[in-house]
Amino acid sequence: MKKLEKPEDICTHTGDEYEKFMGAVVPPIFQNSLFVQEKGKPYGSNPFIYTRLSNPTIEVAEQKIAALEKGEACRCFSSGMAATTSGIMHYLQKDTHVIAVKNVYGPTRTFLEEYMTKWGISVTFVVGNTIEEFEKAIQSNTKLIYLESPSTFIFSVQDLEGVSALAKANHISTMIDNTCATPLYQNPLSFGVDMVMHTASKYFGGHSDIVAGALIGNQADMDKIMLEERSLFGGNMDPHQAWLLTRGLRTLPIRLKQHEQSALKIAKFLENHPKIRQVLYPGLSSHPQQDLIKKQMTGFCGLLSILPKGTDQEISNFIDKLSLFQTGCSWGGFESLVIPITCGMEKEVADHLNLPLGLVRLHVGLENVDSLIADLDQALEEIP
Ligand SMILES: *Cc1c(COP(=O)(O)O)cnc(C)c1O
Repeated sequence: MKKLEKPEDICTHTGDEYEKFMGAVVPPIFQNSLFVQEKGKPYGSNPFIYTRLSNPTIEVAEQKIAALEKGEACRCFSSGMAATTSGIMHYLQKDTHVIAVKNVYGPTRTFLEEYMTKWGISVTFVVGNTIEEFEKAIQSNTKLIYLESPSTFIFSVQDLEGVSALAKANHISTMIDNTCATPLYQNPLSFGVDMVMHTASKYFGGHSDIVAGALIGNQADMDKIMLEERSLFGGNMDPHQAWLLTRGLRTLPIRLKQHEQSALKIAKFLENHPKIRQVLYPGLSSHPQQDLIKKQMTGFCGLLSILPKGTDQEISNFIDKLSLFQTGCSWGGFESLVIPITCGMEKEVADHLNLPLGLVRLHVGLENVDSLIADLDQALEEIP
């Protein structure tokens, strides 16, 4: 089949190999640990050896994700964190230095700030709004700049082209958590970023039924990661997980469109609501980094944050009063969710994470948007 380029075509058909799978319109789950070799042929003549290395079901998902990100290759992992930590370990040696953004996903921050110190790794966190901040943070042993744009609590963005150019000039690699934008709305490799990470637990899967992750980059990096970090740490994807992931990817474009449309309507409703101080959403013209957003992104997902008026207790009552928005972490599934991010947090801790106090995050799911608005409206009555 010729190489597909439109996201909708990639999601529906990339990886279709009807001859290989006996005409099955849905590739079967190769739920096997090993692959036998043909007698009389050299060992390894069958490209599939053992599922920790590769497996045809996992490869279908990898082909789709690589094509969506316009990358040479993709490797899938058992979780987003397995992908993140494998990618980071790929780039670092002992006693090296990383620059990361303050608003990076919490466990990624813990990994860099606390866990990796035992290998002599040091990290400098920057807000990341200007190139100068990154430039100032560079040390002689800096090996990696780790980005997350947009971040998933306040949707701060970084200049992908500018940071990549700065990194290249200083022989530093760049990696980005692109989960929030999804490859449909932002392709960091085309701005010069070296490696993209996605958790597939969010929109890729889309049904809150898998925990999974992926890395996308050039063929050499991906081959090395397959044989080293993925194979040696063993954070490979399970074939059944890959099958569910491929199933989710087929409807990604149509789901995202609905998430975006509903989130924008809700963001505008909340922006005009008397009980709300501020709405943070990259699709609103009030987002302070509009120029960069317009340059790098072509759409937005269903995540937004709000700063309601009122005390922590009143905000907590508002959250409890919501009925369609369940209280829960994670996001990207069919269901609407709400989570208090910095309510009850010490100001010092919130500052360290570059987050405002009283922040609440919403994930806008696939329910009827007017039902969601009515739910928010009645719950906001809890705030006097
Ligand atoms: C959930 C999440 C991760 C971690 O992914 P897991 O699949 O849960 O390991 C990483 N980055 C972002 C932005 C996330 O939201």
